[in-house]
Amino acid sequence: MNLQSPVSAGISPAIFDVSDRKVAYFSMEIALSKTLPTYSGGLGMLAGDTLRSAADTGLSMVAISLLHRRGYFEQHLDASGQQTESDVRWSPETTLPSADQTVTISMQGREITLRAWRFDVVGVTGHIVPVFLLDSDVEGNDPWDRRLTDHLYGGDTYYRLCQEAVLGLGGIHLLFALGCQPEVCHMNEGHAALLAIGLLEARVAPAPLSSATEADAEAVKQQCVFTTHTPVPAGHDKFGLDQMMQVLGADRSAAIERFGALHNDLLNMTYIALRFSRYVNGVSMLHGKVSQLMFPEYTVHAITNGVHAATWLSQPFQALLDNELPAWREDNQYFRSVYGIEPEVIEATHQISKQRLLETVRQRTGIVLDPSVLTLGFARRVATYKRASLVLHSPERLIEIADRIGGLQILMAGKSHPADNAGKSLIRDIFAVASKLKHSMLRIVYLENYDWELGEQLTNGVDVWLNTPLRPYEASGTSGMKAALNGVPSLSVLDGWWVEGCAENITGWAIENSEDEAIEAERVYEKLENCVAPMYADKPRWARLRRHCIAINGAFFNTHRMLGQYVSNAYFPPADRNAASDPLVEDDQAEQTSMAEA
Ligand SMILES: *Cc1c(COP(=O)(O)O)cnc(C)c1O
Repeated sequence: MNLQSPVSAGISPAIFDVSDRKVAYFSMEIALSKTLPTYSGGLGMLAGDTLRSAADTGLSMVAISLLHRRGYFEQHLDASGQQTESDVRWSPETTLPSADQTVTISMQGREITLRAWRFDVVGVTGHIVPVFLLDSDVEGNDPWDRRLTDHLYGGDTYYRLCQEAVLGLGGIHLLFALGCQPEVCHMNEGHAALLAIGLLEARVAPAPLSSATEADAEAVKQQCVFTTHTPVPAGHDKFGLDQMMQVLGADRSAAIERFGALHNDLLNMTYIALRFSRYVNGVSMLHGKVSQLMFPEYTVHAITNGVHAATWLSQPFQALLDNELPAWREDNQYFRSVYGIEPEVIEATHQISKQRLLETVRQRTGIVLDPSVLTLGFARRVATYKRASLVLHSPERLIEIADRIGGLQILMAGKSHPADNAGKSLIRDIFAVASKLKHSMLRIVYLENYDWELGEQLTNGVDVWLNTPLRPYEASGTSGMKAALNGVPSLSVLDGWWVEGCAENITGWAIENSEDEAIEAERVYEKLENCVAPMYADKPRWARLRRHCIAINGAFFNTHRMLGQYVSNAYFPPADRNAASDPLVEDDQAEQTSMAEA
C-alpha cells in the first residue's frame, strides 16, 4: 500500500512558532489521520483524540512522536485466517511541512541527527496543536540509524530502546531548539520516559549530566506528568543494564542509577517515569487502583479515558446534533441534553449507520447481512487477554440462541502483532469455527485490517458492542465509548471503563469473569438470550436505551471531559489546593474574633 496523496486537512507550510506552548505531549504513537499509519491501536487513538480535544478547546499544547515511515502494518487474512503483513509506506516529504529544524544527539556511542515533520491538528475554532514527528532518515547518519523511525513496535529490544531514546531525548532537544520550554511534559505511557533525562541534560547544559543535583532532579519532576496504561508488570518496557550502557552511554546510565530510577537492576521505563513525575495516573478508576497496588511507593491517581466525539460520532448523528444542540463540538456536556430528542429519531439515525456498515461488509466480503437482525460487534487488537473467541466457546449454544431470537449476526475484526503467534492462531481458530457454522440464522464475519475507518463504521453501526477481556487487564478500553456515543450499548465484562459506564439494562449489560471459560461464556449467552434479545425486540424500549447510552455515557466518556481533568488535576492544579481549607478556617476564626470584639 502506498500513501502518497497529501493529507488535505491541517497543513500550513509556514514555520510554526511553538515558543509559547505550555504543555508538551509525548507519545510513541498518535493516530493523526485516517491516511497516516502512525498508530497501532488504542494508545495511539487516545493520543490523537487527546490532541483533537486540545485543539478544539484551545489548549496551549505541542506534541512529539516518531514518524513511522513504514507504519504499523496492513493485515491480510487468507481463507483460513492466516495473517500476513505488509508495510504501509508513506512519504512525509510530499505530505507534511518540515519543522525546518534538526537536532543532533549522542546515543549508541555516536551522533545521530534528527529532523521532524509537522502535522497540524486543527480545532473546531481554528486553534492548532502542532505535532512533530521525529525522523532519523537523515543523510550522514549511520545507515542502521536511518531506519530507526521506520517501524512502530517493530524490531528487537535494542531497536525499541533506541526508538525510545529518539522520542524522549530527541523530542526534548527538538522542542528546546524550536524555542519551546514547556511548563509541563506529559508522558503518554512509559515509552516517553527518557524525556526526563533530556530535561535534566538541558537543565545543566553545557555542564555534563554528572553535575546534575538532587535539586535538578526535583525540578524536572515538578515539570512531568505520567499516564500509565498497563495493568500488568510484564507489559512495562524493560531493558538490561548492558543495553542501557550501549544505547544511552555511561553518563546517562550513571544519572539514572544515581537518582534511583533503576528497578530490580533493570532499566524499566515505567519506574523512570514514576521517579520523575509529580503526577501519575491510571486510565480508569479501577486501573488507578490496580496501578496503585503495583506501585505502592508512589501516589497513583486516575483519570478515565474518553474519545473525541466529533471523530467518532457518525455523520448522521453529527447532522442531528448540529441541528438540535449546535454547541456540542466545543462543549461535549451537551450530549446530556439528547434527552430532549425523541428516541425514535435516535433509532432512525442509528439505522442509517447500520445500513452503511452492512453495505461495507457486502462490498468487502460479498456477504449480505440483514439490517433487521440483532448485530454484535467485537473488534480489537488480538491480544490473548481480550479473548476474542470467548463468545464462540459453544457454537451449538449460539445457534440455539440465534434460532430462538430470530437471528444473530456477529462482526469481528482485529490485528495480531506480527510476532504474536498465540494471537495469530486465535484468528485462525475463529475462522475455523465461523466456517463450520453454516447456519442460516447465525452469521459470523471476520473483517480484514481493523483500522480507524473500520473501527468507526463498526462502532457507529452495530447494535451491541461486545467486550470480554480478562479483568483487570483492560486498563480502560475505548471502543465501547465510541459505540456508546453512537447509541450502542455494551455487553461487557466489568473491567476498565465499563465499571463506571455500566447501568444494567440502561446503558448495557455486565458480565462477570469466571475462572472457567465455559461458565463465563454461558453468562454471555444468558445475557444475550434473556436481556439483550428481548429488549431488542421491544423497539420503543430499545430506542430509549440508545438514548441513555448517548446521554449518560457519551456525555462523560469523551476526551473534552478527560482533558479538562488533566488540565485541572495534573497540568495546572490550583497552587493552594492542599491548603484550600485553611483560609476558610482562618476566615471563620477572624469572623468569630470580630464578633467577639463587637
Ligand atoms: C478505538 C480503537 C482501538 C482501541 O479500542 P479498545 O476498546 O481499547 O480495544 C484500537 N484500534 C482501533 C482501530 C480503534 O479505533
